[in-house]
Amino acid sequence: MKEAGTVGSDEVQIEAHPAQEFGSDPLTVRDTDHYTNEYVKGFVEKWDDLIDWKKRYESEGSFFVDLLKSRGVRSVLDVATGTGFHSVRLIEEGFDTVSVDGSAEMLAKAFENGLTYGGHILRVVHADWRQLNKDIHGQFDAVVCLGNSFTHLFSERDRRKALAEFYAVLKHDGVLILDQRNYDAILDNGFSSKHTYYYCGDEVTAEPEYMDDGLARFRYRFPDDSQYHLNMFPLRKDYTRRLLREVGFQRVETYGDFQETHQVKDDPDFLIHVAEKN
Ligand code: SAM
Repeated sequence: MKEAGTVGSDEVQIEAHPAQEFGSDPLTVRDTDHYTNEYVKGFVEKWDDLIDWKKRYESEGSFFVDLLKSRGVRSVLDVATGTGFHSVRLIEEGFDTVSVDGSAEMLAKAFENGLTYGGHILRVVHADWRQLNKDIHGQFDAVVCLGNSFTHLFSERDRRKALAEFYAVLKHDGVLILDQRNYDAILDNGFSSKHTYYYCGDEVTAEPEYMDDGLARFRYRFPDDSQYHLNMFPLRKDYTRRLLREVGFQRVETYGDFQETHQVKDDPDFLIHVAEKN
């Protein structure tokens, strides 16, 4: 967004950082298309400045990279590129990676990060998941949708459409890896202060501010006291698994907190679904 300003007699263009817009009643904002308004520049840049990528690597471990390698995967479509964390990791691990996001802001930051972290030129495609095959023409060994991204879809119709598009872009024996927060634990047991709710480092706090069956509103607080929000749909584990099967995936395994075992521990913060096409 550009604002015209005047200094002396010279007209200058000042880049304004748009604010997040949730209106007078943020709890009524339950709309799939709203995600592009939530990842505003100020939020994205602050997040990226404060989250140490190296520590995040360590926190996530090599779970999904090992999984892709063990299956002989070569080509990967990262459908939730965000600021590029997973795409850069995939490229560094040798995967032939294409990076998709519905937010142009995010893709610009991801491209910049690719250059900063290792001089990689990311192959980016601006596309919404619900029309993915309009813009992506090849087929991939794997699709990854990581960092609690699928939660941005607010209607079942959108979720089914997105999964059908992911399915279609996979080769006949392809695999989808999709992760999500463990919303069941929060919906059933309430918020727990012992939880960090995913890796945010020491400087950023991410915590649920409001939850009901149709909305998980999280607050992100930064050291300068600024705060941002994301409104998300609280996916229940079994519901996501059912949708994956219903769109055609033959086998769905769910892991807890990037563990190597099938065992979902009692109360993991994160769940990772691995869905096989055949
Ligand atoms: N994987 C990255 C990470 O973990 O750092 C980014 C995750 S970020 C939480 C979620 C990303 O999904 C955002 O960049 C957002 O723009 C994108 N996204 C959400 N809904 C989308 C949709 N319907 N189509 C395309 N991208 C979408």
